[in-house]
Amino acid sequence: MAKRVLFLDRDGIIVEEDQVDTFEKIKYLPGVFGALSSIAQSGLFYLAMVSNQDGVGTPSFPKEEFEGPQNRILETLAGEGIVFDAIHVDYSLPSDNCPGRKPGIGMLGEYFTDAYDLANSVVIGDRLTDVKLARNLGCKAVWYAPKKRASELGDELASTCILVSDNWAQIASFLLDDEHLAPRTTTIERKTKETAITLSLNLDGGGLGTIDTGLPFFDHMLDQVRRHSGCDLTVEAVGDLLVDEHHLVEDVGIVLGEAFAQALVDKRGINRYGFEILTMDEVLGEVALDFGGRPYLQWRVAFAREYVGSFPTEMVEHFFKSFSDGARANVALKVSDGNVHHQCEALFKAFARAIKGAVHRNPYSMELPSTKGVL
Ligand SMILES: [Mg+2]
Repeated sequence: MAKRVLFLDRDGIIVEEDQVDTFEKIKYLPGVFGALSSIAQSGLFYLAMVSNQDGVGTPSFPKEEFEGPQNRILETLAGEGIVFDAIHVDYSLPSDNCPGRKPGIGMLGEYFTDAYDLANSVVIGDRLTDVKLARNLGCKAVWYAPKKRASELGDELASTCILVSDNWAQIASFLLDDEHLAPRTTTIERKTKETAITLSLNLDGGGLGTIDTGLPFFDHMLDQVRRHSGCDLTVEAVGDLLVDEHHLVEDVGIVLGEAFAQALVDKRGINRYGFEILTMDEVLGEVALDFGGRPYLQWRVAFAREYVGSFPTEMVEHFFKSFSDGARANVALKVSDGNVHHQCEALFKAFARAIKGAVHRNPYSMELPSTKGVL
């Protein structure tokens, strides 16, 4: 996937605007550590510093007087998990008309490839030249300035600038919410010689949708999943029911699982684990699940009857096994003895509630719920 780049100015957004040629002149702007740390942690952006440092290497700004404070700033940021993927510093003077000097893009040719998604990249800087740089790169700008200065952008730059703010917390939540809180949806169409299934899933829905598999009891159970998971779910499935219901139930389970795996994308910010104990009259159902990337089914269920309505109870286990395979999730189910309809319904409802917990995402965290770094 092409990388979105966050081009960050230094002076005026990370440290106060000055010729920072001594350690004493390093003064950080309020909120910059927390904000950049959550942006870096989100993994949404490739971080590139782009800075004009007028006249570095001349007697009025010797190179070592730039490098000492610059390295100190980078070290301090790295201590908070903010590590730049690239650093571009132009040392020229305004009078040199150097093409690398912002808003020129002379230092940034490497970003004009398919590896980078410039249209969805962002420049943050405190000068109008930073907004112009964004326009020249074909990306968007966050102008780090008091909101009341927005009129200075003029028609020409207003369309490039997506936010005017000098509040780092606001800038971070703007950049993260934009991506992070977008609805997680997917639609899968799957056709084989045995079944044809169209399934749409929205993890951030409101329990809406319709279920039609041609198997009334199965529809009733999938309706419980839709209703109690809080996900929008629509399933249209036809299968070779004249043979038996095996292929249809199995394939719906696989496709439902695959839809969860797709809609969860990289799983950042989610709870990952979900569990529910649910009572239904004489029955107690328990479900735990883990969208951890590995399939496994724990099945501690004994049904006293072979059928519930016209639905073979052995297919309940097969459905959950197929879901576990499709979602690459651990699913553990347990239910006490009792009425078979109640047993099934308790399991499907508890499964739905466990899903609700597991896919829930925390709007203020983009952390991956794993120490492995990947799920
Ligand atoms: Mg600046």
